[in-house]
Amino acid sequence: MIDIREALWTTESWYPNGPEKLVESLPVTVFYTPLQGCSGWCTNFGDKAIIRISSSLAKVRQRFTLAHELSHLILGAETHVTQDNLTDLWEELEVNILASEMLLPASKARSGLAEGVAANAVSIDRLAKDANVSWMVVARRFAHMNQSTKLTVAVARIAESGKMIWSFPRSKFKAIAFETCYSVLSEKSSIEMEYDDGESHFKAILHKTPHSNAVLLQKFPVIVEPAESECPF
Ligand SMILES: [Zn+2]
Repeated sequence: MIDIREALWTTESWYPNGPEKLVESLPVTVFYTPLQGCSGWCTNFGDKAIIRISSSLAKVRQRFTLAHELSHLILGAETHVTQDNLTDLWEELEVNILASEMLLPASKARSGLAEGVAANAVSIDRLAKDANVSWMVVARRFAHMNQSTKLTVAVARIAESGKMIWSFPRSKFKAIAFETCYSVLSEKSSIEMEYDDGESHFKAILHKTPHSNAVLLQKFPVIVEPAESECPF
């Protein structure tokens, strides 16, 4: 359908309307209709494809679903249905990474980050508004970019019951007590907190949406103090 690098280049050049403009340039027809039990699906037949998106989703989620289904097609899917609450499958993780990159290119995401400095709730909110995406997309991009920011970062999404349903990267997830976060979030929509676990310093940004709670966890690198040397004078 289109090379991944070309798709990313195209969406970056059309930012913040990358996925919509990319669809216009491809033989893909998009329909927005009521859907039951899934947020969207796509099907590929011959040299054409159809994407259907649930019209009941919030606008930013419709945009994410568009980028998500488009990513399935770019990555070679014949037919795919994106069911709610099944976002932890490997294929879905790969697709979500590409979708997030198309919605928020690295060059734009970097404007909200400084090397070695933790992101804050204000910079996330600003980028989410500029890029017309959810808080979660920005948090996910920041997590992916932890190498360039020199922070070890994890992102999680928690269902309203307090049960974690998605995280990136999964292995870093245990560093925070999410039950505690959840109880804090029931009082405020967005909160930042910093804490130490005895070895590392963390900054967590907690965010509540109508459907889920999200956490961006940023782990600061261990700062090694230079050994004291005797003054030669
Ligand atoms: Zn999917």
